[in-house]
Amino acid sequence: MNIEDGDCSKPSLFELSKENLSSILEEAGHKPYRAGQILNWVYKRFAASFDEMTDLPAGLRDYLTTKVKIRSLTLLRKQEGGGDWAKKYLWGTKGRPLVESVLLKYKYGLTGCVSTQVGCPVGCAFCASRHLEYERGLSKAEIVEEFIAMCADEKARIGRMVFMGTGEPFLNYENVMAAIDTLCDPSGYDLSRRRITVSTVGIPEAMRAFAGDSRGVRLALSLHAATDDVRDSLIPLNRMYPVGQVVEALRDYALATGQRVTVEYMLLSGVNDRREDAKALAALVDGIDCLVNLIPWNPVPGLPWSRPGALEVRTFKEILERNRIKVTLRRSLGGTIEAACGQLRREMTEK
Ligand code: SAH
Repeated sequence: MNIEDGDCSKPSLFELSKENLSSILEEAGHKPYRAGQILNWVYKRFAASFDEMTDLPAGLRDYLTTKVKIRSLTLLRKQEGGGDWAKKYLWGTKGRPLVESVLLKYKYGLTGCVSTQVGCPVGCAFCASRHLEYERGLSKAEIVEEFIAMCADEKARIGRMVFMGTGEPFLNYENVMAAIDTLCDPSGYDLSRRRITVSTVGIPEAMRAFAGDSRGVRLALSLHAATDDVRDSLIPLNRMYPVGQVVEALRDYALATGQRVTVEYMLLSGVNDRREDAKALAALVDGIDCLVNLIPWNPVPGLPWSRPGALEVRTFKEILERNRIKVTLRRSLGGTIEAACGQLRREMTEK
């Protein structure tokens, strides 16, 4: 296996378009049509090295190994859920943990959840990632690699992608957009844009830009509270972008794209799960074509909150339904393996 962990001197294959790859091939006197074969190996058969590409001439395989790397991230740890089905991956370079991804198996198929930044600069009070120091945004190639490496591990095509791992996708906007374009490229993985969801903490100007750039990609907003009082205490960025502005940007996104949007609402016992919170939420999103996704908080060791009981969750859901809001309750697939953002990396960093 040629896994050139952390070798910065060579471009990553995931940075290269079919045209880039064709010119690398042509420069060395190889047939440019080989590019299609190589992309097929990488995006359809999830090859991790050129050695695996048995229908390429040996000389070409050796040449490409010196020119291009396929894997930059190494798998440091993998955890699999018990009853619920989820697999969690911790990737790093040179033995140092960087980011996590999660593979979730639902009735309708596989969903790959990727991180977009190493650590997160936003610092939401309830999130495991707040303890991880922010380092940098992931490159386009690293984001694509998280996804493809999960396919390779599972030996299966993953049909859906969500940007719900560590990091704020809109604070790494260019690379997230480029990763989406790469994965949706018909000459590569050919992922359907409708099956990708970008989740944001709520940055109005980025949400508006995304309405123009997304071309069918879905948007989810981490609302978590319907009033500035409560949201300020959970999400520090709310002081800069108050809830009214964030929800207006969401409404505009739904109107501009004609798409149903998702409102993520995480329930914390006694903080945002009361009857009046449900009523305020219903009033706030009234008239927006949205689906409210209720997510009981995944406990993070050391944080003071708890998740509400089944009765509170049901009551909250019923109040929304009575107000004709579409609502689903997210099964907490990752819960048993601590799949909430940043938990695995934190565990490993603190050891
Ligand atoms: N920065 C993006 C994506 C990150 S996390 C965003 O804010 O949307 C994806 C979702 O998980 C967000 O809704 C986030 O608020 C939520 N989340 C973070 N920690 C959680 C926890 N411990 N339990 C439940 N949801 C959590």
